[in-house]
Amino acid sequence: MSTILSGRTVRDAIVPELVRRVQALSCEPTLAIIQVGDRPDSTSFIGAKKKFAQQIGIQEKHIQVPSSISEKELISIIHECNADDSLHAIIVQLPLPEHIDRTAIIEAISPTKDADGLTSGALVMPATARGIRELLHFYHLSLQEKKVTVVGRSLLVGKPVADMCRTEGAIVTVCHKGSIDIMKEIAAADVLIVAAGKEGLVGREQVRQGQVVIDVGINKTQDHRVVGDVDFEHVRDVVTAITPVPGGVGPMTVCALFENVVDLCERYVKQ
Ligand code: NAD
Repeated sequence: MSTILSGRTVRDAIVPELVRRVQALSCEPTLAIIQVGDRPDSTSFIGAKKKFAQQIGIQEKHIQVPSSISEKELISIIHECNADDSLHAIIVQLPLPEHIDRTAIIEAISPTKDADGLTSGALVMPATARGIRELLHFYHLSLQEKKVTVVGRSLLVGKPVADMCRTEGAIVTVCHKGSIDIMKEIAAADVLIVAAGKEGLVGREQVRQGQVVIDVGINKTQDHRVVGDVDFEHVRDVVTAITPVPGGVGPMTVCALFENVVDLCERYVKQ
């Protein structure tokens, strides 16, 4: 019987301390959430962030602009947020429309307000990486000297997750779409972290006893269910521990984002 690594349980354990820290702040902490366009998945992720913000006493300012906005106009909105002392943290919900250069937008955010930890001068860890680290710590799963395979190497998820694992002492292999022998690397892992965005990528045949599986993927099935990249129902009987989707990495990412917000407020809001 495998252990189900519940992000909801860990998040609920973190909330009281987070609320205490929010109440101790000298400001009314406010996160600006910038949304470009109206992608339903982005709207739903923003909804989860708003709900959590309310739960812990953080204000949010949702700035939604049309997808036709120019890069220059978007940068100017970010600069206004940087200069606005009533806003303490900023996130730009990704992905962005194709005509906008993501790097230029991210780099426009002041590092002292960058709650997603994506600018080159970032002061906090990207939320998914931080959330996974906290999930593993909660369940006393050390990465020290462990062989970790990360599937996916995006700037937002795969890369920061791999960096975090190295910092935690793991020996890390990163796989991507073009990698040869991904399945060999998956089989060799003590800890497998999958962030490809591909339903059914990892099934029962690919895993073995003793592995810990962290599924970052979020995919919508044809019948509108949310599933990860791992075939949870068939893999859970084989491995030692596994995150469900939903209820695994997702809640941890939201929680870690707000831990970042509070970290930034504690460090950079003028007292
Ligand atoms: P992305 O499309 O930017 O990157 C996907 C990465 O996976 C790429 O490096 C690509 O090469 C690799 N990949 C794709 N198909 C592959 C395959 N068949 N074999 C090996 N590698 C493959 O996506 P992203 O932003 O990194 O997000 C990845 C997934 O994680 C998505 O499903 C996204 O919705 C989800 N996500 C979840 C959370 C969360 O909190 N749970 C947070 C962010 C993203």
